[in-house]
Amino acid sequence: MQGSLYLTPQNVQDTCDLGVAHRVLDTLGVSGGVIVDNLSYRVLWAGPNFSRHIVYAGCSPHLRFEPTDAEDMAFCHIALHGPFEECVVQVGENTVKPRCPQCRSRFVDWADALDSGVMFCRSCRVEFAACELDWRQQAAAGRVLLEIRNVFPSEASPSDMLLGQLYEATQFVWTYAWANTWMRNPLNDWVDRGKLKQRVDKLL
Ligand SMILES: [Zn+2]
Repeated sequence: MQGSLYLTPQNVQDTCDLGVAHRVLDTLGVSGGVIVDNLSYRVLWAGPNFSRHIVYAGCSPHLRFEPTDAEDMAFCHIALHGPFEECVVQVGENTVKPRCPQCRSRFVDWADALDSGVMFCRSCRVEFAACELDWRQQAAAGRVLLEIRNVFPSEASPSDMLLGQLYEATQFVWTYAWANTWMRNPLNDWVDRGKLKQRVDKLL
């Protein structure tokens, strides 16, 4: 099953304007044109160098960069989320028990606790925010999330150059994780269907 690769600041409280991250993706050719551009949410086409900077551990699968019709969203593209007032956590099908950042104990009942956003470590008797836990790269946390949609979890990862350029542009370290695709507003994501249809028509 496909999901998303997320690039997030390593320190979950670090944040930047989407424009800064977008410029890095654009300059490297990871992203192409804009599909959706809202406050705190942008959806972008994959760019000409996408496969150079989103690399696969195993053999490269066949990736699709164009929709087959105006309803199709199961092709590789990019979504930028944030910056948010508070850190968000996006989990996935493969999310394993996160660990306490202090004592490394596992949080057995994390799924129930996630709704409240507060995680109580029974070993240290300390409450943590969900985004402070060590999700072992199986959930994405941050106030800014760069999402690469429809890639294979645990296999696709960013190139060193991409992480390096994000660091250069923002002056903080970036990391990555895999989680479920996050459609912020499925009804409106493809609101500009006319434009999308034009592109699909051109391809056919
Ligand atoms: Zn603990």
